[in-house]
Amino acid sequence: MDRSPHPVRYRITPVDPHAHLFEVACTVDDPDPQGQRFTLPTWVPGSYLIREFARHFVSVRANGREGAVAIDKLAKDTWLAAPCTGPLTVVAQIYAYDVSVRTAYLDQHRGYFNGPSVFLSPEGRRSAPCELVIDPPPDALRAQWRVATTLPSDGARAYGFGRYRADNYDALIDHPVEMSSFALVHFDANGVPHDIAVTGRHDADLDRLAADLARVCRCHIELFEGPGSRPPFDRYLFQITALGEGYGGLEHASSTSLICRRDELPPRGASTIGDEYLNLLGLASHEYFHGWNVKRIKPAAFTPYDLTRESYTRLLWAFEGITSYYDDLALVRSGVIEPERYLELLGRSITTVLRNPGRHRQSVAASSFDAWIKFYRPDENTPNAVVSYYVKGSLVALALDLLLRREGKASLDDVMRALWQRYGRHGTGVPEDGIERMAAELAGRDLHDFFARYVHGTDDPPLDEWLADFGIDYHVRAAQNATDRGGKAASGTPPRAALDAKVGADMKLLAVYSGGAAERAGLAAGDQLVALDALRAGVETLRVMLERRGPGDAVPIHAFRRDELNEHIVELASPALDTCYLTLQAHPADEILARRTRWMSP
Ligand code: ZN
Repeated sequence: MDRSPHPVRYRITPVDPHAHLFEVACTVDDPDPQGQRFTLPTWVPGSYLIREFARHFVSVRANGREGAVAIDKLAKDTWLAAPCTGPLTVVAQIYAYDVSVRTAYLDQHRGYFNGPSVFLSPEGRRSAPCELVIDPPPDALRAQWRVATTLPSDGARAYGFGRYRADNYDALIDHPVEMSSFALVHFDANGVPHDIAVTGRHDADLDRLAADLARVCRCHIELFEGPGSRPPFDRYLFQITALGEGYGGLEHASSTSLICRRDELPPRGASTIGDEYLNLLGLASHEYFHGWNVKRIKPAAFTPYDLTRESYTRLLWAFEGITSYYDDLALVRSGVIEPERYLELLGRSITTVLRNPGRHRQSVAASSFDAWIKFYRPDENTPNAVVSYYVKGSLVALALDLLLRREGKASLDDVMRALWQRYGRHGTGVPEDGIERMAAELAGRDLHDFFARYVHGTDDPPLDEWLADFGIDYHVRAAQNATDRGGKAASGTPPRAALDAKVGADMKLLAVYSGGAAERAGLAAGDQLVALDALRAGVETLRVMLERRGPGDAVPIHAFRRDELNEHIVELASPALDTCYLTLQAHPADEILARRTRWMSP
């Protein structure tokens, strides 16, 4: 437990942008007389993989009142300073060159850090207040860079370097910091200021982005808080890094870090929403919804976070899946997209799940539990053995919402509000059976069968049947080509035959599906196709072969496995009906139309 109210004082300095080095000091005024221990988290909240950030610590030294203090490593993430008279300062040099939302980055163009990867935690001080001085970079950059973070200022000017504070260590590491010459736009949502800071080269219409995000944020706020009410934070920040390639987001209590492709930012002068921009809106919507669902409504296993080891919960399907369901739903509810466009997105999600044989092997609850060793560590067998608690989780959330709405007593909106009121608002963790119990309570009946089949079991929820009750028709067809993601009706003739494998543009097999034609012929993920039916392998050769040959035809396929050439006789299969699209019924009965409208409206 905490021994004293002394704040822990941190200082971070971008000492050498060209060498990508931050220097981070942590000062404890009254160190443990037996020797002060310091630990670094091994994982970051929101990303369920042991990442061992300490591997980027290049050097660590310590100083006490009388000069240098010996500091030893006890474990990969733990240091022990020799007994000394305080104040004790530990200084680490940290290599920061990871373009991700999880760790730290520094070069002459920008600096970024996410607290868990840079801030040591002195043992016994987890709830002590923290001070943080953020130093400017050296030389010329000093005049150009600003700071974007939602850490409360303790003297620093708005967007300035200087002194910030946090209530405790957990708060300190929940406000990532961007430092660069970012572009900045603002909007208001229900009386709370929202900033968007965009780093990276781009020529985007940021006012458009602000206007669209304002509508989405209002929709989420009002779902949880009611019309006109304020969200549970005083300000919010979207930190966006635009790159040529890249995608990712990480949620925080009052901010989010996003990485997107620059063509996902809205282009100037466009009035429509392209697929690329829609991706970014969906990502931003997702992370904002997390401001409630997982940052405040948390699994009991995360209250508090144990950042030294894996924290097991079977509820990630709810915290990620329900969030994934609402991210796109909020786009239609807020009027940013039309219902037809929403159904296109939903059709794509259903397609992703239909093409994932792993859903027959693993439940979303099991996938949640094993995220640490499976979902976050994909390999060639992942499509056959692992289900995504994000995408299938979003369909389970949809199914639960449809089920509740058909029965007329409640909706998933009511469940989320009730979870917020009962658990989130009070900082109480949601027990492992808390989602089921809350949904059952609001539905006024036992929901064991639903949870046993679709959450803890591997059944597909009957979305075709349940969507029909909302005036939506569910269709499946064969994929037309390798880039067909579903969501739309066919626009040409599909191939007649299939390999039952995913082939990359370089003709390498990315995945070989369980029990399919390629697997039966002995092909494996990683094999390099060199000849198809006695012709040189290529995207076009493959397309023509699958168009001209039929199911049951045996074709020779030559492929290298490592450096050995093998011949396989593949008996081609019928194309799977694994591509879904949804359509609005033109003239549904009044009751059905009313139900659909209520679902798609705020
Ligand atoms: Zn998420």
